[in-house]
Amino acid sequence: MRPFTHVRATSLTQAVTASTRADGARFLAGGTTLYDLMKLDVETPSTLVDITALPGLHDIVPGRRGLVVGALAKMADVADHGEVRTRYPAMAESLSKAASQQLRNMATVGGNLLQRTRCAYFRGGAPYQCNKRVPGSGCSAIGGADRGLALFGTSEACIANYPGDWAVALVAFDAEIEIAGPRGTRRIPAESLHREPGTTPHIETVLEPGELITRIHVPSLPALRASTYHKIRDRASYAFALTSAAVGIEVAGGRVRDVRIALGGVGARPIRARDAEAVLRGQRYDRSLAIKAGEVAMRGARTSSHNAFRVPLGVQTVADAIGIAMERV
Ligand SMILES: Cc1cc2nc3c(=O)[nH]c(=O)nc-3n(C[C@H](O)[C@H](O)[C@H](O)COP(=O)(O)OP(=O)(O)OC[C@H]3O[C@@H](n4cnc5c(N)ncnc54)[C@H](O)[C@@H]3O)c2cc1C
Repeated sequence: MRPFTHVRATSLTQAVTASTRADGARFLAGGTTLYDLMKLDVETPSTLVDITALPGLHDIVPGRRGLVVGALAKMADVADHGEVRTRYPAMAESLSKAASQQLRNMATVGGNLLQRTRCAYFRGGAPYQCNKRVPGSGCSAIGGADRGLALFGTSEACIANYPGDWAVALVAFDAEIEIAGPRGTRRIPAESLHREPGTTPHIETVLEPGELITRIHVPSLPALRASTYHKIRDRASYAFALTSAAVGIEVAGGRVRDVRIALGGVGARPIRARDAEAVLRGQRYDRSLAIKAGEVAMRGARTSSHNAFRVPLGVQTVADAIGIAMERV
């Protein structure tokens, strides 16, 4: 780990200013992934702007119009919050199925959104090449060990997947991300926070220098009450998703009035599966329709011999998630 300056910010303005002034600054929240990456020499910040003492960003507020979660709320506190569990089950499950209890006690929901890929070539360093780690250096993952890497949204420069769970649930239900920065505050759809790699895989989000996430706004949609986050992984706990699906359903008069489907684990970023939603909308639910929706969701996957198994797995994951959500209607 290299030497760095530590600045403890006590106001948003101070955090933004400190981050903008220092070249190569990073915000520090729970530190559960940033410190790891610093030890691996993937992240080499000159300055850590510690935001853990910023006031007003730890709250979890379930209101009439929706849920507002401060970026510094702990994953465990959101996952275990009574009203979040009953009114926003997909939100609670996406967090409770992530990482481990110890990590969830320490990690924040804002930091969770901005975690970086677990691609072994990105984290491994020399002798591997990684365009995300060193722009222009190449991609050892292409033609390499890509069992857990992305099936969608890849480019010739990068096939890393986005590993987080919470962002998938946010994308399914039209959540918004509130951001503070040098030019004031703004709100963006959760769906547009992460970028596909294209030719610049090292640029992973639309955040500008000095911008930090302050709150997450989740609208109070009827489909959220009957929702789930279904995650398939190599072991039942403490593992990243091979495939996952956030699904919510609203039924009226025996037919699907609203349905939300987003895919996790399989994309360069979380994927909203609108074509799959269209399969179900207006229809009477049955299992074959859920399988069809899963097939549509996984259509167009880029596969290799190591990861092709995740296409039928993804179909099953989506179909099962739809089934679980239907049981909650
Ligand atoms: C062994 C292990 C297993 C894991 N398994 C899973 C899993 O299954 N699913 C899953 O979703 N996650 C998993 N994680 C990731 C874990 O959830 C993240 O490490 C954690 O959520 C990051 O939160 P943090 O507060 O510690 O962020 P930090 O480590 O403090 O920061 C992470 C990044 O976000 C930036 N940042 C933090 N907060 C803000 C903010 N408010 N605004 C702008 N930038 C900010 C930091 O600068 C840094 O770049 C795992 C992690 C580990 C170590």
